[in-house]
Amino acid sequence: MVKPVIAIVGRPNVGKSTIFNRIVGERISIVEDVPGVTRDRIYSSGEWLSHDFNIIDTGGIDIGDEPFLEQIRQQAEIAMDEADVIIFLTNGREGVTPADEEVAKILYKTKKPVILGVNKIDNPEMRDQIYDFYTLGFGEPIPISGSHGLGIGDLLDAAAKYFPKTEETEYADDVIKFSLIGRPNVGKSSLVNAILGEERVIVSHIAGTTRDAIDTPYTYNGQKYSIIDTAGIRKKGKVYETTEKYSVLRALRAIERSDVVLVVLNAEEGIIEQDKKIAGYAHEAGRAVVIVVNKWDAVEKDEKTMKEFEQKIRDHFLFLDYAPIVFLSAKTKKRIHTLLPMINLASQNHSMRVETSVLNDIIMDAVAMNPTPTDKGKRLKIFYATQVSVKPPTFVIFVNEPELLHFSYERFLENRIRDAFGFEGTPIKIFARERK
Ligand code: GDP
Ligand code: GDP
Repeated sequence: MVKPVIAIVGRPNVGKSTIFNRIVGERISIVEDVPGVTRDRIYSSGEWLSHDFNIIDTGGIDIGDEPFLEQIRQQAEIAMDEADVIIFLTNGREGVTPADEEVAKILYKTKKPVILGVNKIDNPEMRDQIYDFYTLGFGEPIPISGSHGLGIGDLLDAAAKYFPKTEETEYADDVIKFSLIGRPNVGKSSLVNAILGEERVIVSHIAGTTRDAIDTPYTYNGQKYSIIDTAGIRKKGKVYETTEKYSVLRALRAIERSDVVLVVLNAEEGIIEQDKKIAGYAHEAGRAVVIVVNKWDAVEKDEKTMKEFEQKIRDHFLFLDYAPIVFLSAKTKKRIHTLLPMINLASQNHSMRVETSVLNDIIMDAVAMNPTPTDKGKRLKIFYATQVSVKPPTFVIFVNEPELLHFSYERFLENRIRDAFGFEGTPIKIFARERK
């Protein structure tokens, strides 16, 4: 199920990030602590009654050196492009300002629903201050207080009314959905063209219901695929599309809808911090990952070059040690044929189920080889392990005390499981649970 997207817009200091944090709540702090992954607090998921949704704080999208009004204009346009519902936030303590009017003018252009929130109404006596805001032309203003957590439910009720009823394209289980992520100019769109080449049959382009996400389904060698968000990959031109946070946002959306994520690097330029960030998102989302080194034609090579580059990747992307690496050129099409088999492999492993009895044999052998750790005189006891889900493969290990399963021992067990079953191209998750 694709979640609807809410975007918050408004001039600086009205309380956008306060409201964003209120809505996403603890969610943001429970993400696993992956070294090298920096979080941008601009995009997260939220929940309201029976609805799951994603939410964007456009105020967190830094548009570089542009003047103030240009920044908020671009942020509002991002909201109009990306969201199903827009929350237009204002400050009840300051009344309607010229900058609010500017935002309103931009939002008049959209057909998407806009909900007007008036923030900083910290107590009931202040409610009269919302009436001014009718002049903005977005109907009834909703009084809220981000710092006191008041009215947030009303705001989300109003937003949820507009969540699209028709679900976006659902694919059958036998379709491998993959996306290409990477910073601008690494060659994502060239790669899509190279993959699609003439001999592949493109079934049709499928447009999302409300957003401009366009997937490209096709079949090759009897396997069905869909390239997720081809439009986002190809779309170019608007100024803000070159901003880092915008591409991160777009990538997160594509990752969420994919089985396999191709992390595309530019061989000519090597690896930079932004590549690590983008790769970190794919890992955190639990998707299968293939690392693609593009523009391999443009690199001067000898017999050691590939090994050295591979080592560099391994050093930089410690958390992606399971991801296979493919070197290729979208331009000359050299080694392009190696990519789809890797995508197939990663996808198969991502949804692989292992037999419980074999799994337990592996775990017990592991324990015999390397005894479980002790802490304050207590030893971890493992009773039983089972695979509880796929995409990614997730295991639960029943133990005497979950806290005794330290990271290093968990890592050891993960490696034993990987040695036994493969799982190349997919993260796996292990949880310890107390046996009752
Ligand atoms: P943004 O620039 O729109 O993201 O605004 P922030 O969320 O950073 O908030 C700007 C300032 O307003 C901060 O000092 C917040 O503590 C304050 N603020 C946010 N919400 C409220 C509120 O409901 N009441 C009051 N009194 N202050 C608030
Ligand atoms: P995107 O922004 O990631 O979609 O990148 P593009 O596909 O638009 O490619 C950016 C630039 O890199 C274009 O000028 C391409 O012609 C060039 N390019 C893409 N793939 C290759 C490649 O394999 N080798 C070389 N030498 N150039 C490439």
